[in-house]
Order: sequence, then C-alpha cells, then structure tokens
Amino acid sequence: MQKEKVIIIGSGPAGLTAALYTARAVINPLVISGSQLGGQISITNEVENYPGFPDGITGPELGEFMQKQAEAFGARIMIDEVTEVDFNNGSPFTVKTHGETFEAKVIIVCAGASPRRLEVPGEEEMIGRGVSFCATCDGFFFREKDVVVVGGGDSAMEETLFLTRFINQARVIHRRDELRAGEALKKRAFANEKISFIWDTVVEEIVGDSKVEAVRVRNVKTGETSELATDGVFIFIGHYPNSSLFEGQLEMDERGYLITDDHMATSVPGVFAAGEIQDPTYRQIATSVGQGCAAAIMAERWLEEQEKGRG
Ligand code: NAP
Repeated sequence: MQKEKVIIIGSGPAGLTAALYTARAVINPLVISGSQLGGQISITNEVENYPGFPDGITGPELGEFMQKQAEAFGARIMIDEVTEVDFNNGSPFTVKTHGETFEAKVIIVCAGASPRRLEVPGEEEMIGRGVSFCATCDGFFFREKDVVVVGGGDSAMEETLFLTRFINQARVIHRRDELRAGEALKKRAFANEKISFIWDTVVEEIVGDSKVEAVRVRNVKTGETSELATDGVFIFIGHYPNSSLFEGQLEMDERGYLITDDHMATSVPGVFAAGEIQDPTYRQIATSVGQGCAAAIMAERWLEEQEKGRG
C-alpha cells in the first residue's frame, strides 16, 4: 500500500488550487485526476469571468496553467479514478483507484459535479448519437444542422451562443417563459439571429432510430404536445455533485452536496472538501479556486496539529 500525506480527489480548479497550496507547503500532494483531467473547465470554451485575463481564456488553457503551476511546486497528478474510499476509521484513510490502494493522512475531496439528465425516454440511448451535454466537445459535429437546446440558465445561453459558430439554427426549449440566465448572456442570446425560443415547454421524449430525429415536447400551460424535428439535442439543466462515492462516509444534504463548515471541513476530521461537490450556490471557477485554497490551508494545519500531538 502506497502511503501519502495528502491525497486530493479531483483535478478541477478546486483540486488544482489545493494541489498548488499543499505543494508549496511542502506536503507533497498526490492528485487523483478523476475521469476528466481539469474537471468541467476542460470542456468549457471561453472563460470571461476569471480575474486576471482581461481578454478571456479558454477553459483547457486555464486548466493547463493551473496544472503546470501546481506541478512546478512538486504536486504529482495521477490519471486515474477513485473507486472506493474508507474514511470510517479515521486517519490514515484508505483510497482505492482502478489500479492501486493508498493510505493518506489527510484528504481533500474536490470531485466536482456532472451535468444533470432530463431523465426522459431516448436520452441515455442517444448520447453520442445526437444527444450532448457539451457544446465545446460536440458542436463541430453539428455544422449547418438544426439543434434544440434544453435549459434557460447561464450554461444554456453560453453553450448555445458557442453552438451558433457551427449550426444553422438553435431552438432553446425552456420550461418557463423567462430565462434564469444573467442579463449579459440573455442580451447576447436574444440578439443572435440563429437562436429562437420555445417557452413554457418541456421535452418528454427524444425520438430516433440510430440517431436523434426529433423531440416530443409538451407545453406546460396548454398541455398541447407536438414533435419537433431536429438533428441534435443539447441539454444544460444544471449539475449534480459527484458524491455517490462518499455515501455513508461523509455527511451530505438531500441533494448529495457534501456538508462542510466555514473551514472546508467535512463531517470526518482530516477530510476536507472544496469546489462544486460542496457548493450548490456559487459554482464559479473563482469560488472553487478560493475554496480549494482554504481547504489546503486547513488540511495543512490539521496535519501539523496531528504531528505535534504525536511528537
Ligand atoms: P442553473 O442556473 O441551475 O440553470 C438550469 C436551467 O435548467 C434553469 O433554467 C432551469 O429552469 C432548467 N432546468 C432545470 N431542471 C430542468 C428540467 N428537469 N427540465 C427542464 N429544464 C430544467 O444551471 P447552469 O446554467 O448550469 O448554471 C449553474 C451555475 O453556474 C449558475 O450559478 C450560473 O450562474 C453559473 N454559470 C455562470 C456562467 C457565466 O457567468 N458565464 C456560465 C455558466 C454557468 P428554471 O429556470 O425554470 O429553474
């Protein structure tokens, strides 16, 4: 069994910031990347609201900078997924990946969040065949095509605007008659000729044989149903925390967000958490970075206390 001082689970902005701070504190962190190195920013096209980049920066570029900076101070990044943890017997904790088992004195959980599903017939089967949760990843495959976008938040608007570089037209299907997205994105979306809106409407089924052909929709005010032909369905209806691994080990709320105190501590002493796995409110790169920094500082102090206590 490999012994570590600190293991950071997840490599998004929170995890990479925790890695930078613990590396600079010379506690030699090991980051286990998760399925997506860089986390959600690695599939974000443009980041315009992270301070320090007046002309914006792409998500993958920002992720790479964060990774390089953490590595420059000695953080080790392992490309693997955590498959099992055992926090129930206190520190040292056990962490298993597909290939290895580790023991760590302190853990920082930064496993992030994943896109929510509509949970309608056809959705799961059509992923990669016209159903997508990432415009940056898949937009290119829809050149000159007609797509529908589901959702009315910032993500839906940002991703739809990005899609307009490729597509012929996007119809945004939203369950209310007002967008949740902020003013700046709303304004840009309303001004874009390729984008139209279908209000008060929900998608009830995604239809197609080997690929998406249509969506069956229902107007929630009139109850009227209809079928809209489309080449693709992009779904941006929020996220859920990637916390199933920690069920029965760490306290979480009814939606699965890990519960942390003001110092990023979870319900288990020596296990800290940062970023979207414990943050249903802000969900910004800037806030995740701040939380990752705070968790690292507290993890370092906790470790120091333990070592003092023993010696
Ligand atoms: P969000 O703000 O939670 O919006 C989710 C959207 O999906 C809402 O419009 C919601 O409708 C709709 N929705 C939820 N469940 C649905 C369902 N089952 N069927 C149909 N529609 C459903 O999520 P988000 O857009 O991913 O944004 C998350 C956070 O990240 C927010 O704080 C946002 O401000 C931030 N963000 C910021 C930026 C930026 O600043 N550039 C970019 C991306 C994200 P209702 O409106 O009716 O609830």
